[in-house]
Order: sequence, then C-alpha cells, then structure tokens
Amino acid sequence: MAKTIRKYLIAGNWKMNKTASEGVDLVNEIKLGIGQKMDVGVAICPPYTALESCAKAVEDSNIQLGAQNMHPKLEGAYTGEVSPVMLRSMFCTFVIIGHSERREYFKESDAFINEKVLAALESSLKPILCVGESLEQREANATFEVVKTQLVDGLKGVTAEATDHLVVAYEPVWAIGTGKTATPEMAQDVHKMIRDELTALFGEAADKVRILYGGSMKPENASELLNQPDIDGGLIGGAALKAKSFLELIEIAHSK
Ligand code: PEP
Repeated sequence: MAKTIRKYLIAGNWKMNKTASEGVDLVNEIKLGIGQKMDVGVAICPPYTALESCAKAVEDSNIQLGAQNMHPKLEGAYTGEVSPVMLRSMFCTFVIIGHSERREYFKESDAFINEKVLAALESSLKPILCVGESLEQREANATFEVVKTQLVDGLKGVTAEATDHLVVAYEPVWAIGTGKTATPEMAQDVHKMIRDELTALFGEAADKVRILYGGSMKPENASELLNQPDIDGGLIGGAALKAKSFLELIEIAHSK
C-alpha cells in the first residue's frame, strides 16, 4: 500500500557484491517470488559491471534499476568514472548519491554530492540522496545539525518541480552493516525533521518526496520502521543480497 501520496520503495544496495551473472541469478529469484505487487516500488542497485545483465533480467518485471554512484559530468577525461548519460543508456531509473561509504572512503563533499544530485535530475535519473550521522556525532547530540547540513547543501538549486523525482535516504552511519538499527522512534524523529526541512525548501511538494530508512533494516525490524509516518521504505544493504530476505521486506511493505 501507499502512505497518502507516497508509494513505499524498497531499494537494494548491493554495494561491491555480485558479478554480472550472479546478479541475474538473484534478479531471477526475486522475480519468481515477487508476484504482482504493483503497490510497492522495488529497485535494485547492482555494481556498474552487473547493470547491463540486470537491466535485461528486470525487463519483464516491475523491478527498477539503479546505480550506486555516478560522476556529475556528462562525459570527459575522468578516468574510472561513469556518467549519468551512461547510466540512462543502461536503463537506470535511480542513482544512489552521497552514500556514507562514498563520503568516508572517497572523501565526497556536500558540494560534490550536490553537483551529482543536480546532474542526475537533469539527466532524468532519480537521485537517492543519502544523509546520516556517525556514532560520534549522535553521541555529541549533533544528529539534526549534521543531517540538516547534508540535506540542505546536497539539495542546493533543486526546485519544487523536481520533488517527484527525488528520494532521500536517512542512514545513520553507526547502523550500516553493524546489525544495530535505530529504534523506530529514533528514525521517525530524524525523518520528521527531514520532512520539515523539505517543506521549508519546497512547500507542499515536500509531501511527495520518499524518505527511506537505511541501516541494518531486515524482515525482523522492518514492520515497525515502516509503520512510522515519515518512513516511506528502505535502502537495504545486507538483506538485499538474498532473495528470501529482500522478498520478505517487499511483502512487509505490501502488507501495510
Ligand atoms: C546501506 O549501506 O545502504 C545499508 C543500509 O546497509 P545495511 O542494510 O547492510 O546496513
């Protein structure tokens, strides 16, 4: 089901896992189990090298494709990088931008992330902008300030008309891949703050933006998280690598 005007989105971030053929095997398993759940948006974000094979595998399904990163320029001398045009040619709908692993290991700044968000929207890709605080920042009571800065700086220059195409993912860094999840109330508090900031930026159009929770979301904790008024789905790491757990998450969103 949907929350008012927002349809749940369950998006799998495969990170640096799955070869091209392993990706197809996983897609085929997901397709077998997914049935006709048109009321839940489903996306997978394989590594670049599995995009083409997975694009073919999802063709006859309601699974959409996303990438995990991109360069903001359309083409040029940027060795090792991939452009939004290239992602569109692979039939990507979404692109994850500003994941905490990119921020931490590749030193991506809010300004660079903002360039990517704008470039994605200009190229008709839907950015999934990731924001979230570290454990240190949470313990220093800086969560709202950190998340607000990442959000506002990441969305500079984005117009209210683009909100249909925008997804935000709140991913507390201390909960990613650690098995620790924010309690539903902790997550909702931050999601509500994000919604309020989006309203300050875009007015009523903010109601259209899906805000996903990410950080050790799994079938055991998804229901309570998805019950929160401002949690519109999940960005799923570990639990997206197995068809069984990913399908269970889709089923939980479907049952709402
Ligand atoms: C992620 O990296 O986006 C993520 C949420 O990972 P996990 O579900 O494994 O914590």
